[in-house]
Amino acid sequence: MCYISGMSTTKFKKILTCFPWIIVMISVAVLGLYEAGLITFEKKHKSPLTEVEFILPLIPLEDVTYSQNMLLVNNEHPLPEEFSPDIVFYRDTDVPMNSAIVEDYGRMSDYVREDMNDHLYVSSSYRSFEDQERVYNEEGPEVAAVPGCSEHQTGLALDVYAMYFAGSAFPDSAVGQFVINNCSQFGFIIRYPEGAQDITGFSYEPWHIRYVGLPHSLIITEEGITLEEYIDLFEIGRWYSYEDYVIARLPEDDLRIPTELFEYEITVSPDNTGYVFVTVHITE
Ligand SMILES: [Zn+2]
Repeated sequence: MCYISGMSTTKFKKILTCFPWIIVMISVAVLGLYEAGLITFEKKHKSPLTEVEFILPLIPLEDVTYSQNMLLVNNEHPLPEEFSPDIVFYRDTDVPMNSAIVEDYGRMSDYVREDMNDHLYVSSSYRSFEDQERVYNEEGPEVAAVPGCSEHQTGLALDVYAMYFAGSAFPDSAVGQFVINNCSQFGFIIRYPEGAQDITGFSYEPWHIRYVGLPHSLIITEEGITLEEYIDLFEIGRWYSYEDYVIARLPEDDLRIPTELFEYEITVSPDNTGYVFVTVHITE
């Protein structure tokens, strides 16, 4: 009989046969504990934002002109009854949109027309509460959002299509590919990305674009996260920098801005969770 470090080969073979089963059992036990919430793995996602501190004092921001670009609207965050969207008509059309998006949507549409010799069309833009109620009653809860919980009621969301390519066929068109891959440059995000239904409440909708403005659209897209996850990255009252922007999420009743930022372009938008996003573009 041959011995390996005092162990018989039969015993060693037995251990070898058992080894995969031991691994399986350990994995099942670890997974069970993870599912039960008894152990957690550290989130791999590193924040793309860099925290910044200012030396000069904070000054209350007065005469604020609010934008509505950062509103979060989903089943957990319905729009308040008194919500009044800032709606204008897009260029010379009868297409109603939030005033925050017309300029950037126009730039994207112009690009498609001038550089791609194609067209981008809008099938649905702003919907009133009553419009959403009608859509909900017609299409049902599988497809349409509960009235009050649709982004279309803000005028910040657009359902877009290309000629012969609407809905789930939109990505099959050149225009669709362009919009999906480049809308973030124009301030838009694909609001309901693939595999994020647990977070957004919606399955993949490549045709539903949502305006959040720069640099938010760039960060959300680069990181491959949802608007819900993006908003959660911000610790209330802290200031962050991203390229030539400075961003903070502040309490609605405490809008104080670092003195040195006053000379730049400041956009203030409530986020419909009780806080306000302040976005400052640092320009030369
Ligand atoms: Zn939509």
